Amino acid sequence: MAEETNGTGVIHSTAAELAAAIANGETTSVAVTQAHLDQIEAVDGTINAFLYVDAERALEQAAIIDHRIAGGEQLGPLAGVPLALKDILAYRGAPTTCGSKILEGWIPPYDATVTKRLLDADIVILGKTNLDEFAMGSSTENSAYGPTRNPWDTSRIPGGSGGGSAAALAAFEAPLAIGTDTGGSIRQPASVTGTVGVKPTYGGTSRYGVVAMASSLDQPGPCARNVLDAALLHQVIAGHDPYDSTSIDAPVPPVVEAARSGDVSGMKIGVVKELGGEGYAPGVEQRFREGLEILAAQGAEIVEVSCPHFTYALGAYYLIMPSEVSSNLAKFDAMRFGLRVGDDGSRSAEQVMALTREAGFGAEVKRRIMIGTYALSSGYYDAYYGSAQKVRTLISRDFAGAFEQADVLVSPSTPVTAFPLGEKVDDPLAMYMNDLCTIPSNLAGNASASFPVGLAPEDGLPVGFQVMAPPLADDRLYRVGAALERTLVDRWGGPLLSQIKEIAR
Ligand code: GLN
Repeated sequence: MAEETNGTGVIHSTAAELAAAIANGETTSVAVTQAHLDQIEAVDGTINAFLYVDAERALEQAAIIDHRIAGGEQLGPLAGVPLALKDILAYRGAPTTCGSKILEGWIPPYDATVTKRLLDADIVILGKTNLDEFAMGSSTENSAYGPTRNPWDTSRIPGGSGGGSAAALAAFEAPLAIGTDTGGSIRQPASVTGTVGVKPTYGGTSRYGVVAMASSLDQPGPCARNVLDAALLHQVIAGHDPYDSTSIDAPVPPVVEAARSGDVSGMKIGVVKELGGEGYAPGVEQRFREGLEILAAQGAEIVEVSCPHFTYALGAYYLIMPSEVSSNLAKFDAMRFGLRVGDDGSRSAEQVMALTREAGFGAEVKRRIMIGTYALSSGYYDAYYGSAQKVRTLISRDFAGAFEQADVLVSPSTPVTAFPLGEKVDDPLAMYMNDLCTIPSNLAGNASASFPVGLAPEDGLPVGFQVMAPPLADDRLYRVGAALERTLVDRWGGPLLSQIKEIAR
């Protein structure tokens, strides 16, 4: 990357290249951080990926890293590289809004475990990225701070809820980002922006300090522009955390080795019959099939598997998730965090609480709190929440059966490419359909990822290839991702994102 370290070239480098150039003194973390801050300054007025940029703290952190490297210290494999953090993870001293008015002004006094691990790995945090309010949505249009735009076409959605993190990558505002995935919020934004997004095995990364949406589904994970960078980031943030009771006490799967190897020979790849066909865009299906051909050409065996209960996954998710949402969001009571409305001495605490929740939550959040409260109410608990949990078990059994026939399962990541802003925002059911392919892995807790597989011929927009692996076999995702990337980058003559048009300012 020698000729790339100055000028705008630096922002097109991979995280691994940047870290190597910083480590060997070819450039500095301050220079790399500044180049990304300049890009944010130049394009984020259009993209709106960031809710908060902490230039001062980022440059201070970078200067300390440069000083340590100059002093001969050997730092980690991503030391000095900047990152964009989804605004649902606590970062001490920085506002954390979750895209909601109700948390306006709240500044966490502590770091999430993921944040702490980033800082301990000397990764530079540029700021906090936009998201659908409390991570509820598929387009970032539910953010109280305005939507993020897709860098491929700024009239379109960047996916959600982690649209800010994905757009920051695609707009070259950051080479690395963190997302959270409850029903697809890492993978669907990755899919529609031509980036890589990984939802680790549930319990593989810590939820401590991640503001809870649906605790049995939420999982933070790495977002990047290529497979190796995602694996390097995965390695940094994953692993057991005593502060999270659902954290798994097991070694981190060998994700970096898998990303470097990309060997899929002899691997059995199961195409999920139920995740395709009617409702899938022709270009999505075409690129997905090409992905299968690439894997077959590298010695993988392609088989078809059936997961009959996946058809009910969306329905089960939209009962379980709101139930957990209604309970998790009860803590926003105007007393403990952020916004407080109507506290002029004339009202009771209950009235202030009601006024604050009325003013502080957006329509989608209120909708889910109401659905969840209803699904958990005593007369309906068995009919709704109870039945949904039974379906969840059936979906886990489908996965277990399919993983007996195949090492990984695959499907398109999303049925369609990025749709225009405003198209589905008033139609919750149409919006929910975006997560058809991603939700089963959240319900079952297995590892899952989206990798770019090309542009749909009909609209020139990115298509994602989803890979699902058994719990704690996250390394298989990277093996398949690297195998695809190797052939595709050759075919495209460079990374997919090198085909993106310059962003109009
Ligand atoms: N789009 C899904 C939803 O609205 C997933 C959200 C997520 O993964 N955080 O619930």
